[in-house]
Amino acid sequence: MAALRAACDAFVPAVEPPRAAPSFGGFWMRTPSDLGLERLAAGWIDTRMRPADREGLIQLLDLLAVTGFARLPERVRARMLKTAVRGTNDVARGFRGLCELTVGLFYGLPGPGGGNVNWDVLAYPGPPAIDPPADRPRLRPWTPPPGHGDLTLSADVVVVGSGSGGGVVAGVLAQGGLDVVVVESGGHHEEHNFPADELEAYHRMYWRGSWALTDDNTVKVGAGATLGGGSTINWTNWVQPPAWVRREWADHGLTDIDTAKFDEHLRAVSERCSATQDCSDPNGPNERLQDGADALGWSTVCTSRNTDPSTYDPATAGHIGFGDRSGSKQGTLNTYLADAAAHGARLLVNCRVDRITTTGGRAGGVAAEYDDNGTRRRVTVTAPTVVVAAGALETPAVLLRSGIGGPATGRYLRLHPVVVGAGFYGEDQRAWWGAPHSRIVDEFARRDDGYGFLIEGVQYGPGYMAGSLPWNSGRQHKVLMSGLSRAATLIGLVRDRGHGRVTLDDNGDSFVTYPLDDPHTIQRLAEALDATTRLHAAAGARGIVDLTPDKQRVWRRGQDLDRFLAGADAVPFRLPYRLIGSAHQMGSARMGTDPVTSVADPEGRLHDTPGVWIGDTSAFPTPTGANPMLTCMALAHRTAHAILARR
Ligand SMILES: Cc1cc2nc3c(=O)[nH]c(=O)nc-3n(C[C@H](O)[C@H](O)[C@H](O)COP(=O)(O)OP(=O)(O)OC[C@H]3O[C@@H](n4cnc5c(N)ncnc54)[C@H](O)[C@@H]3O)c2cc1C
Repeated sequence: MAALRAACDAFVPAVEPPRAAPSFGGFWMRTPSDLGLERLAAGWIDTRMRPADREGLIQLLDLLAVTGFARLPERVRARMLKTAVRGTNDVARGFRGLCELTVGLFYGLPGPGGGNVNWDVLAYPGPPAIDPPADRPRLRPWTPPPGHGDLTLSADVVVVGSGSGGGVVAGVLAQGGLDVVVVESGGHHEEHNFPADELEAYHRMYWRGSWALTDDNTVKVGAGATLGGGSTINWTNWVQPPAWVRREWADHGLTDIDTAKFDEHLRAVSERCSATQDCSDPNGPNERLQDGADALGWSTVCTSRNTDPSTYDPATAGHIGFGDRSGSKQGTLNTYLADAAAHGARLLVNCRVDRITTTGGRAGGVAAEYDDNGTRRRVTVTAPTVVVAAGALETPAVLLRSGIGGPATGRYLRLHPVVVGAGFYGEDQRAWWGAPHSRIVDEFARRDDGYGFLIEGVQYGPGYMAGSLPWNSGRQHKVLMSGLSRAATLIGLVRDRGHGRVTLDDNGDSFVTYPLDDPHTIQRLAEALDATTRLHAAAGARGIVDLTPDKQRVWRRGQDLDRFLAGADAVPFRLPYRLIGSAHQMGSARMGTDPVTSVADPEGRLHDTPGVWIGDTSAFPTPTGANPMLTCMALAHRTAHAILARR
C-alpha cells in the first residue's frame, strides 16, 4: 500500500500554484492520499481490472516496493515516473494505466455526498440530478427460472448482441411474427439504474470497462457493453451515409444500397428512433467549432439526433455518454428492443455467447454462459437462424471460436481513428452542458476520394479527460486541469484506408490489433490535427495544446501558428506518443461477393454456413467516414427483412 500511495501522490503531487492562480479551496496542495484514494485505487485494481492487467500492475507495485520507491525523495519519484510512463513496453503501459486510474479517481469520483472537492477547480457542477418518472414503462429482460442447472431454450432466431444492429434485427423479426431470443453479455441498465457517475458507468457499460487499449497499444477504443450496446451509451449523432460510400458498397455487391430501396430502410429507422434537428443546442465547444469554421469559410452541418423532444433537456444531455437518465435518447433500448419485448422476444442479459453451434453444416443455435448473480450456468439456445451482432470487436471472436466465417473473419477491422485537439479559451466553455455533438465540420469529408475526415465534439467527463491529458509532470498536469473549464476539445475523425485485425488470445477472447501504419490514414490524421488546430486559432483560442504525452507542445496566441503546426508531424500518430481514439469499429466480418475477402454475402448470410447472418457494423464492406449508428441500423433493418423474405 505504501508504494501505491507514493505512486498516486507522485502522479498528483502537492505543488506551488502558478502566479496569481486562485487557491480553489486548497486544490494545489491536495494529493490523492489526502482523500484516501490509494485505498480506492487498490480496491479498483483488485475487483475491476481484467486479470491480465491486474497481474501486471501488482507486479509493478511489488517492484516499486522492493526498490524502496515510497522512501525516495519526492523529486526522484517524480523523475522516475516521468521516465516510466514513456515507452511502448508493457511496463510503461502499466505505469500509464496507474496514472490514468489515479487522476481518474482524483478528478472523476464523486465522494459520499455526491460531489468531488476537485470539481471547484473544473467549475463542474457534477452529473445532472434527474428523477426518472416512476410510471415510465421499463424493459423487462427475461429471467431464467431460478436454480443452478443448465438452461435450454429454443426459438426461431437467436440474436447475439443487442446493440444498434442486434436490437433492430430483434425488433423487426419479433414484429414479423418470429420467436426471438436475444443473448446479451452486458447487464441491464436504463434510466432508473444508470450509474450516476462516469467511472462506474465506464466500468459497467463499456467494453472492457473503459476506453480500452488495443492489444498492440496503438489506439484507445470505446464500445458499449450493456443492453442496447453502443446505442445506450453513445452521443446520438445521427449521420446519413455519404453518397460515395453507398456507391462503393454497391461495387462490393450490395447493389441496392445505392438505390431508393436503401433510402426506405434509412427512413424507417430514422422515424422509429425520432431523429430530429430540434434537440441540437450547441454547448461551448460546439459553438467554438461553429465560430472557427465560419471564420475560415468551412462547411458545417447541424446534427440530427435520435432524441425525443418531449423529454429532451440540454441541461442533462451533456451526460448521455453514461446512459441518458432523462429517457430522451432513442437508442434500441427505448425503441426496437422495446418492440421486440412487446412482441414476445426473450431478452437474456449477462449471458455471453461462446460459440455458434451447427448441425450438418447449418446454423443450429448458440452455446452461452449465463452469469446468474455470480453462479455460472450453461445456456443452449437451439434455433435454425443465428444473427451475430456482438459489435465489430466481438463478432469475429464469436465466429472464430465457432470455426466458421472463412479466411476474412476478423480482417479489415476499421476504427475511424480520431486525433484530438484541445483549445483553451478566455471563458468557461460549460462543456458538460448540452449534447456532445450538435455541429459537424464536413468540409474535408470528400478529400482523398471520400477518405477524408470530419471535425466533431466529444463527451465531457472530468475523470476520463484527466486521464487523456498528457502527463509530463504532476505540476504540469495540475496546471492543465486548472484550465479545463475553459477548454473546447474537438476531434478529427478519419475514414481509414488501412485496417486492423481481430484474432483470439490464448483464452479465446478477442485480441485486437490496429498497426496504424497506412500512409493515407496517417496523412489524413495529420491533416485533421492541422485543421482542428487552425479552427481553434480562428475561433479565438488563447492557447492550443497538442496532446503529446512525451513532450508538451503548446501554442499561445501571438506565436507563429504555422511553425507550431510544422512541429506536429515529428510526433508519431499512435499511442503512446499521441492520443488516438476510436468509438467506431466496423468491417471485421464484412459483406461482399468474394468468400476470400468477405465473410457474408451481400445480403448478410455467411458464405460458409447457411442460417448464420451478420447483423452489425462488422458487416460494413468499408468504413462510412461518418458516425455509423444510422447506417448500422438501416443495414440491420435490411438484413432483418432479408431474413423474413427467405422464410
Ligand atoms: C462513446 C461512444 C459514442 C458514440 N457516439 C456515436 C454517435 O453519436 N453517433 C453514431 O452514429 N455512432 C456513435 N457511436 C458508435 C455506435 O454506437 C456504434 O457504431 C454502434 O452502436 C455499433 O453497433 P453494433 O451493433 O455493431 O455493436 P454494439 O452497439 O456495440 O452492440 C454489440 C453488443 O453485443 C454485446 N456482445 C459482445 N460480445 C457478446 C457475446 N459474446 N455474447 C453476447 N453479447 C455480446 C455487447 O455487450 C454489445 O451490447 C459511439 C460509440 C461510442 C462508444
